[in-house]
Amino acid sequence: MKILVCVKQVPDSWAEKKLTPAKVLDRESADAVLNDLDEYAVEEALRIVEANGGAEAGHTITLLSMGPERAQEALRKGLSMGADNALHVKDDALAGSDALTTSRILAEAIKRENPDLILTGTESTDARMSVIPAMLSERLDLPHLSFAGEVHVDVNARTIKSKRMTDEGVEAMESPMPAIVTVIEKINEPRYPSFKGIMAAKKKSISELSLADLGVAPSEVGSSGAWSAVNDFALAPARGAGVKVTDDGNGGGALVEFLAEKRLI
Ligand SMILES: Cc1cc2nc3c(=O)[nH]c(=O)nc-3n(C[C@H](O)[C@H](O)[C@H](O)COP(=O)(O)OP(=O)(O)OC[C@H]3O[C@@H](n4cnc5c(N)ncnc54)[C@H](O)[C@@H]3O)c2cc1C
Repeated sequence: MKILVCVKQVPDSWAEKKLTPAKVLDRESADAVLNDLDEYAVEEALRIVEANGGAEAGHTITLLSMGPERAQEALRKGLSMGADNALHVKDDALAGSDALTTSRILAEAIKRENPDLILTGTESTDARMSVIPAMLSERLDLPHLSFAGEVHVDVNARTIKSKRMTDEGVEAMESPMPAIVTVIEKINEPRYPSFKGIMAAKKKSISELSLADLGVAPSEVGSSGAWSAVNDFALAPARGAGVKVTDDGNGGGALVEFLAEKRLI
């Protein structure tokens, strides 16, 4: 079984983020890390392999990322967790690409690999669009098991069962392979890379793919090929001081009055 995991490098979630004059995220102004939510996808891939006989049974995990040169750091992190190898789609023309282009590029790279299972996070912690996996499903014409809080793979039957966590409850999903599975953060606890894993990752292969390798013209990607543009932005309004209720014997009544005024009760 060949598992492919889509991983994105993002600015550190805790760092203060800035926009450039061109109204895109200034990625150089913050430390870059592997998208937290993609760590769960890498961890789940490792657990699926372990539950199905391990690497000895011929299962492999390939990471795929589209991003600039330094996206390799995020790939190395995934490799140090235990993935086998990685693909890095890198081309100067890709800067400024929107979600439609990102999904197209990832889909072209995935087609070359022909994996049995594709895992992704639910969203990136920077753009937070949460659309790439669904777009991949459309482009590749593959089933999409979204918001998976539990995944079981039957390699012999070539089926995937997942539990889809929604606000209303849990939905049991089943699909033939190949398929795309989007995992939520409750699915597992990602492992820390061990010292051995970090050393081993230095020797693992990261293959670079250019637009030419994927048969995509530079004019179709980047900001010039984008279908969406950021026209304007504004800071969210500062929060007001709130209302302080002093309990002078009628605190309960004052609270009820406040909640009723806000139509909360
Ligand atoms: C006008 C415009 C300009 C933009 N310019 C840039 C830019 O210059 N540089 C830039 O980095 N972004 C840019 N973006 C943002 C970029 O389009 C989004 O990051 C991208 O479309 C993915 O959306 P998302 O991050 O919200 O992914 P989501 O849909 O939230 O991600 C879900 C999952 O998809 C996978 N995934 C997402 N992106 C990648 C990736 N690149 N590689 C591998 N797996 C991935 C991951 O598994 C992730 O957990 C721009 C957006 C717009 C609208």
